[in-house]
Amino acid sequence: MSEPVQYYSTNLKTEKLNFRDALLTGQAPDRGLFMPSKIPVLSREELREMSKMQYYEIAHIVGQKFLSAEIPSSELLNIVQDAYNFHVPIERVYNRNYVMRLDQGPTASFKDFAARMMGYLMQYFLSLENRELLILTATSGDTGSAIANAFYGLDNIKVAILYPKEEVTERQRKQMTTLDKNIRVISVKGKFDDCQAMVKKAFADKNLSSLPMSSANSINIGRLIPQSIYYIYAYAMLAGENSDEGILFSVPSGNFGDLMGGLIAKGMGVPVRRFVVATNENDEVPVYWQTGQYRTIVPSRNCISSAMNVGHPSNMARVVAMYGGVMDEKGVIHKEPDLKRMREDMYAVSVSDKETRETIRKAWDSHQLLLEPHGAVGWRGLHKNFDFHHEDALPQQLNVCLETAHPAKFPGEIKEILGIDPELPESLHDLDGREETFYTINNDYSEFKQYLTDNY
Ligand SMILES: *Cc1c(COP(=O)(O)O)cnc(C)c1O
Repeated sequence: MSEPVQYYSTNLKTEKLNFRDALLTGQAPDRGLFMPSKIPVLSREELREMSKMQYYEIAHIVGQKFLSAEIPSSELLNIVQDAYNFHVPIERVYNRNYVMRLDQGPTASFKDFAARMMGYLMQYFLSLENRELLILTATSGDTGSAIANAFYGLDNIKVAILYPKEEVTERQRKQMTTLDKNIRVISVKGKFDDCQAMVKKAFADKNLSSLPMSSANSINIGRLIPQSIYYIYAYAMLAGENSDEGILFSVPSGNFGDLMGGLIAKGMGVPVRRFVVATNENDEVPVYWQTGQYRTIVPSRNCISSAMNVGHPSNMARVVAMYGGVMDEKGVIHKEPDLKRMREDMYAVSVSDKETRETIRKAWDSHQLLLEPHGAVGWRGLHKNFDFHHEDALPQQLNVCLETAHPAKFPGEIKEILGIDPELPESLHDLDGREETFYTINNDYSEFKQYLTDNY
């Protein structure tokens, strides 16, 4: 059994917690984000042995490194087997440039990877103490549907999801509203920011303190550890068996939870040569990378890679903490991180909507590679990096771009650019016939509060 990992808050004003308490708390009381105080290490030998393993077996080993003091190995094995019962295809495109498709889970976005493992972990800890939890989540689409599907039917957990009535696609909505059981969905006549503000207000509302509320947004530490696993998996599958060669990952980024998973994988020992951090026109991080000046973008810019329309990434405080700095929840830097080392490890670059569309077209014409807008931002980012760091473009270099959603989730855009209608993955096939249940409220906190007190 390895030594237990403790979790500190990025604002440094909360006592360290174990994983269970950090997971069930969500955001630290000082408004910081929980971070592991040390990152456990995988030896080269362990990494090499993984080349023959299934995804869930790798998840089991990585999970044990963090959790062996808190969960028996056999329980953890059950959890990862249930969570990861789908494929994780890695496609070679040209030379040793690959696309890893993280879109085969039940809601066809990479958020399934984190949501499923987090849901089972929460259920495990809650059932030990016979406790219940009410998860409140505001969503602009993908998080809500991934959480709804991952938490559907779990014991001891109820979920209430708020979404902006006019801002999610029909398909995204149906992924949330056709489930029922422990999942309640509230349609808000407002914007995503209004939904998020209501959730925050409920957490702070003393009159609701009897409700055992927590969050499942990307601030929860329970989402980060699962997101390190696919980086380790990619390395295990692709690296030459007897070499210590480096790998590059291009990560389409919004709230930077995905990138944080990569940084943890690197911390665990995956020899990552570089991360390409690819954003859409919300370029606050590329600007920071270039200038050292961090400025949030308010309101965030609307781009076709809509899940990345973020003007102040919630995980930026964690990225800064990884490099020895302190950033608070508002984006104010209290201690500078090691920017030099950050620039060595990462190349942050912004991709416009025009470039995103061009890339969908070009990837298809040159390589029959079908990308949706988020993956296209990653693929373009990789090629912008090739122009900047020529050595990364050499044919022997191992480069992996993450594709974070299934192209069929964006039929309008793909049809307009390529004239084809991507085939729906099986999990989304029978959505259309199912009955929807949701409750509609005005953009008014008192209505939301009334709903909570009436229903929970
Ligand atoms: C959430 C999301 C992203 C961004 O991931 P972050 O962890 O927020 O950086 C990218 N692509 C898709 C499809 C997403 O749903």
